[in-house]
Amino acid sequence: MRAIQVTRHGGPDVLTFGSVDDPIPAPDEVIVRTSAVGVNFIDTYLRRGLYPSTPPYVPGTEGAGVIVATGSEVTSLQEGQRVAWCAAPGSYAELVAVPASKAVRVPDAIDDAVAGSSLLRGLTAHYLLDGSAHPQAGDPILVHAGGGGVGLILTQLAKRRGLTVITTVSSDEKEELSRSAGADHVLRYGEDLSSRVRDLTDGRGVPVVYDGVGADTFEQSLASTAIRGMVVLFGAASGPVPPFDLQRLNPAGSLSVTRPTLAHFTDTAEELDWRAGEYFEAIVDGDVEVRVGQRYRLADAAAAHADLEARVTTGTTVLLPAG
Ligand code: NDP
Repeated sequence: MRAIQVTRHGGPDVLTFGSVDDPIPAPDEVIVRTSAVGVNFIDTYLRRGLYPSTPPYVPGTEGAGVIVATGSEVTSLQEGQRVAWCAAPGSYAELVAVPASKAVRVPDAIDDAVAGSSLLRGLTAHYLLDGSAHPQAGDPILVHAGGGGVGLILTQLAKRRGLTVITTVSSDEKEELSRSAGADHVLRYGEDLSSRVRDLTDGRGVPVVYDGVGADTFEQSLASTAIRGMVVLFGAASGPVPPFDLQRLNPAGSLSVTRPTLAHFTDTAEELDWRAGEYFEAIVDGDVEVRVGQRYRLADAAAAHADLEARVTTGTTVLLPAG
């Protein structure tokens, strides 16, 4: 089959396109012919070596397609079924071995590009709102990178739950997108961000900040958080947050900081199915519209990574193996 490989740690140019052996299913796996492959920020962290990985390897964890073979112990899925997943290493390929417990059936109303480029972000948005924190209807929240992949979905799911959403963005185009996703207030990054958040919240700040930007925004996130509130640091798009003195949380308002990861909120098939079911339902209901902002051929994965890291993408990014 044809696939992308990370040949060594480095920039987007270390992604090469070529032939590798077809995967053989383990007893608990299915083999899927991919029709859409999701590109996520974590793929770039692994490629650069910021998160541990050992080249050469086929990158990617997310996609959608049709099952073409099943392992000997798989009883829950069959050949011909359409599934999506976001925990199968080696997804930048025409064929992927997916653990059956990590594959979810996709409703007919949702196409492969949407499912295959947004399941990871949709599940993330779901657990951020109902897992690592539990903001209640009427609460204001701050969401950084509101025009990005997670940001747009998180905003729409938060509005479905009756929250007031304040976002940050870097450009007019992203501001427009964030507003159309339902953001109540859209702000620009900067040193006065926290005072603007406090102006919008009667001086109190927000009970929950969702920060996937990291190094560049963390200080403003702390300063925007209400007494007894929580900063959910869920990513590092601008780089990791430097070592931090926990004592600072005391005068800042008895704050909490958490650094969650999706795997710990989908580690049983029941929890994965529940979160995926609610996410897909929100799409089918029309409350979440997934913007597939960029489409590339599988062979052009390097361009997809370069664009994601250059902050020029909006919504989700998909690689098309047949494109
Ligand atoms: P996005 O589409 O949101 O892209 C990242 C956005 O971050 C950019 O569009 C940009 O928006 C903003 N940004 C701010 N500073 C920078 C910078 N220096 N370089 C690049 N981008 C910057 O990406 P994803 O939807 O894939 O992921 C969003 C975040 O969520 C990432 O940090 C990712 O790692 C994290 N994540 C965490 C998970 C978890 O379970 N912990 C699971 C899934 C994703 P703007 O230009 O408006 O600032």
